[in-house]
Amino acid sequence: MVFLNNRLVHEKRAMVSVFDHGFLYGDGIYETLRVYNGVAFMVDEHIERLHRSASMISLRIPLTHAKIRKAVYKTIRANGLDDAVVRISVSRGEGSIGLDPELCPEPTFVIIAYPFTGHPRINYERGVKLAIVETRRNYRRAIDPRIKSLNFLNNILAKIEAKKRGAFEAIMLNHRGYIAEGTISNIFFIKNKTLFTPAVDVGILDGITRGLIINMAREKGIEVIEGRFRPEELYSAEEIFISSTTMELMPVTMIDDIRIGTKPGRITRILHRAYKEKVEEYVQGF
Ligand code: PMP
Repeated sequence: MVFLNNRLVHEKRAMVSVFDHGFLYGDGIYETLRVYNGVAFMVDEHIERLHRSASMISLRIPLTHAKIRKAVYKTIRANGLDDAVVRISVSRGEGSIGLDPELCPEPTFVIIAYPFTGHPRINYERGVKLAIVETRRNYRRAIDPRIKSLNFLNNILAKIEAKKRGAFEAIMLNHRGYIAEGTISNIFFIKNKTLFTPAVDVGILDGITRGLIINMAREKGIEVIEGRFRPEELYSAEEIFISSTTMELMPVTMIDDIRIGTKPGRITRILHRAYKEKVEEYVQGF
């Protein structure tokens, strides 16, 4: 079952118009959430970011925060899911051809929930490979990467490059050559017991997992530096990992042709364990 506009409909009947500006122009926004044991992890933070993205593209979301939360749970339950992924998409809606948002009187609001199948265990045991790609992350003053936009071509082009190079994830630099982020993940590296990650003003999505990791690291007395870093910093890192809602913390053991250890690093493992504890606490407290 899919939540479409204001009700649940069968997947086969969950249709969106070919005149929807999400389809025609990638005009819209979305969120991805992870469900653990029937509980939508950090659902409020995701709904807040959805509203932030919406306001950055002057899009009015037809549902309140509380109504979206309710709809998320309704969709999870209607599909009988425990471990799942939820995607909330909001497009500008149906309207005639043309860029003016006023052509679309009503946004299209969709929630899809599907079982979480996970990433291969070997990725967590051995670490994955990254490739620093030629495609640069969107310039902040063109399309701010803080907008979690339906227009994903920037990331898709980077993903194509990474796949050609046999890498699990691409790392994009910003227009000035500073490390930005992955196509669907944020990046962290460790040197001398300090955790480094690109600052949001480099031009990245302020990942919810990223935010949680920064807080957890500080709670554990690990120094965290958010800043501007050149790719060479990654080549000489002691540990690297990427983060996202569905991956949590994914260790990295290879970047381009440089090997970064042969197994997940110590701080990566400590932080991933702490992350799993946070999830556990959240689910218990629900
Ligand atoms: N950067 C980009 C470009 C992404 O698409 C994602 C996935 N939403 C992330 C980072 C990670 O964000 P989060 O931790 O909120 O899933």
